[in-house]
Amino acid sequence: MLIVKKFGGTSVANKERIFNVAKRCIEDYREGHQVVVVLSAMGKQTDVLLDMAKDINPKAHKRELDMLLTTGEQTSVALMAMAMDSLGVPAVSLNAFQVAMHTTSDYGNARLRKIDAKRIRYELDNRRIVVITGFQGINKYNDYTTLGRGGSDTTAVALAAALNADACEIYTDVDGVFTADPRVVPNARKLSEITYDEMLELASLGAGVLHNRSVEMAKKYGVQLVVRSSLNTNEGTVVKEDNKMEKMLVSGVATDKNVVHFAVEGLENKPGVAFKLFHHLANHNVNVDMILQSVEHGESQDISFTVTEDMADIAMETLERHGDTSLKCDNIKMVKDVAKVSIVGAGMMSNPGVAAKMFEALYDAGINIRQISTSEIRVSVLIDEKYAEPAAQAVHDAFSLEE
Ligand code: ASP
Ligand code: MG
Repeated sequence: MLIVKKFGGTSVANKERIFNVAKRCIEDYREGHQVVVVLSAMGKQTDVLLDMAKDINPKAHKRELDMLLTTGEQTSVALMAMAMDSLGVPAVSLNAFQVAMHTTSDYGNARLRKIDAKRIRYELDNRRIVVITGFQGINKYNDYTTLGRGGSDTTAVALAAALNADACEIYTDVDGVFTADPRVVPNARKLSEITYDEMLELASLGAGVLHNRSVEMAKKYGVQLVVRSSLNTNEGTVVKEDNKMEKMLVSGVATDKNVVHFAVEGLENKPGVAFKLFHHLANHNVNVDMILQSVEHGESQDISFTVTEDMADIAMETLERHGDTSLKCDNIKMVKDVAKVSIVGAGMMSNPGVAAKMFEALYDAGINIRQISTSEIRVSVLIDEKYAEPAAQAVHDAFSLEE
């Protein structure tokens, strides 16, 4: 078998952890498998590097930032190959340049385009463990790029697809994907499996276990993933294509406090108003979510939406700048202490009453809903931030997701 194993920063945070990972990879190697290892930077090294850059030049060019950040992953792969060698197993570390992992040009948020498998195959054929830098690529100028925070997962899936691997294992510091964040809902349960679509909703809802582009890519190329802990041998969660037989009504509850609510009130009730509003925001790269246009009241209407916290000030400035002139609104309201609680489940597509059950649970807990949004397999509500935990717990209980 050809196995791709990806280990996150906490799994390689120190010497002891590096040897722990080395040994796990060597077990597979000794069973005769071909082993490709993808690593993140050690511990919080990426943050450390970003802080160093900020200290030198807060407006550093993104090209230079990527040049800097790629050293984090390069450090881990070299140390890992050394650790494996000291345990008597031949290993070789490769960076994005040596593999030839081609990406788009966008520094800091590049997308993988093509991976050259030749060098990797050569090393595998020579019975070496191949240890590859996650998160990085090279663009058409032969400059380093990075794939966005958490991007090593995407590197691993892309490699699994390019090498036609038999397994792609994502090792992290938790046991797998849970029905809720165990820090929020203490009796949350580990899922044995989840569909790509559910995982995508959870990843973009900030569940934080997998980079969402890695899940998109896994779905596109049919790469089955296993998410499991590097610190124990528990089974983990399999992420795969929809299994029609046992679609879960609700697989999980996600809580996201990184949201800010905006209400733009008293907008003109005529064509083009929503276009103008969101066009201005898009021009400033503000991503919006949970859009709601109120029922018109006579000549005017209100539009509300949410953005992530880091975008709140830019959104406010943009709205204020255009408020009187192009948007002609009466009032702009911003509320920061809100949270989004969502349920996700592939089974809700064909089962009515799922949303009602969620709303009932919130009602019973005395929690008011500010705004609602849905997709085919998700229902999200916006509530006051102070109720985030009780809301998640109430909804989790209502769908009996506990252990
Ligand atoms: N080291 C990078 C980060 O911290 C990439 C990764 O860990 O996946 O975002
Ligand atoms: Mg990660």
